[in-house]
Amino acid sequence: MSRNQDWMERDVNVLWHPCTQMKDHEHIPVIPIKKAQGIWLEDFDGKRYLDGVSSWWTNIFGHCNPRINQRIKDQVDQLEHLMLAGFTHQPVIELSERLVSIAPEGLERVFYADNGSSSIEVALKMSFHYWLNSGRPEKKRFATITNGYHGETVATMSVGDVAVFTETYKAMLFDCIKVPSPDCYHRERGVSWEEHSRLMFEHMCSTLEQHQHELAAVILEPLVQGAGGMRMYHPIYLRLLREACDHYGVHLIVDEIAMGFGRTGTMFACEQAKISPDFLVLSKALTGGYLPMAAVLTTNAIYQAFYAEYDQLKAFWHSHTYTGNPLACAAALATLDIFQHDNIIEKNQVLAAHMQQATAHLADHPHVAEVRQTGMVLAIEMVKNKANKTPFAWQERRGMKVYQYAMEKGALLRPLGNVVYFLPPYIITPEQINWLSQIASEGIDYAVRD
Ligand SMILES: *Cc1c(COP(=O)(O)O)cnc(C)c1O
Repeated sequence: MSRNQDWMERDVNVLWHPCTQMKDHEHIPVIPIKKAQGIWLEDFDGKRYLDGVSSWWTNIFGHCNPRINQRIKDQVDQLEHLMLAGFTHQPVIELSERLVSIAPEGLERVFYADNGSSSIEVALKMSFHYWLNSGRPEKKRFATITNGYHGETVATMSVGDVAVFTETYKAMLFDCIKVPSPDCYHRERGVSWEEHSRLMFEHMCSTLEQHQHELAAVILEPLVQGAGGMRMYHPIYLRLLREACDHYGVHLIVDEIAMGFGRTGTMFACEQAKISPDFLVLSKALTGGYLPMAAVLTTNAIYQAFYAEYDQLKAFWHSHTYTGNPLACAAALATLDIFQHDNIIEKNQVLAAHMQQATAHLADHPHVAEVRQTGMVLAIEMVKNKANKTPFAWQERRGMKVYQYAMEKGALLRPLGNVVYFLPPYIITPEQINWLSQIASEGIDYAVRD
């Protein structure tokens, strides 16, 4: 009863997997994992897979990390869960203090949710509600950039723009202003990331000018558009956006759910633009990839707009059942301890440079349009025609072929369409990076064959 095959059969009888055409599992196996240690996942037949995408961008310090495990074990014997309305507890207070102390300046209040999408909805509702409480009910719309991703719930799809996730549900979504993305993949030859990002900002600037009276906030992913294919842009865009939002009186919501906690090379991506958003949204790696939790950090100015006598009905009447769960807080505290004690951000610079070297040769591949990188994210864009960047037809599922090749070899590289990317745990070694690059190269060769 402990072999892969048995578990696979039982799985497909009862489960419905996320982001999956379940019929695919007639020929692409669902992999039952028995246990994991560090960067390795191990299935029931004893085969190991290197987790090259940090289990959907969450796991930064390895699976079953002894320090995080211990902290959760200690916490579970003390207090496992508690409602956070009317009550509080030590881990949630300590975590809030820690987050405020490391976040960009001015973010002094922490509100919790239990997943990324919910926390985006918190930020959207808070911004909208702030303007309502401040006597500006007409400021109720949102603007964003194209190709963004903020989650799968109805409101987060409304402010998102990745067709595979949103197109089907279009009729359910609310209207949001979408401005062309600064995505540097589309820059003209010879134009730098910075120039291109500046140029693209003109669209945002005119949108803000035109719609300032009705805009509550602009929401975007900083530096890297993750689910949109690891598309990247220069920090100057965030700097210009912060200035313009201040100028036109519009909130800035920065979704660092995927890119926070060191992924872009700094603790938070905002640091590279030297900005503080009005709302900073965190999840995924917040708990080291252990437990679902999300946090929205905001300013005291926004908090104060809700602070009033009860009968003025200004309170933020919003909750998720597992808000501030003590076990998740414990995992997050252990994660922050590791950042602090192990000099992670500094050490990652070496790993990031190594990822660049190990994959540089792929830029010359006849079916690779671009190898791009921001910190600990490296993406390889496969194309049908390199000269004019014609993409492979989506029906050909080239990325899926890379995935299958890599799994065969013992590496988990789950691409986004035709984009193969490395987003590894920070405990990856230079040797493992070399090996992963080797597999990615071979996988791409295999996938682009006709
Ligand atoms: C994953 C993600 C979300 C949604 O988080 P969930 O926990 O999956 O709901 C939102 N924004 C970004 C940028 C993400 O990568």
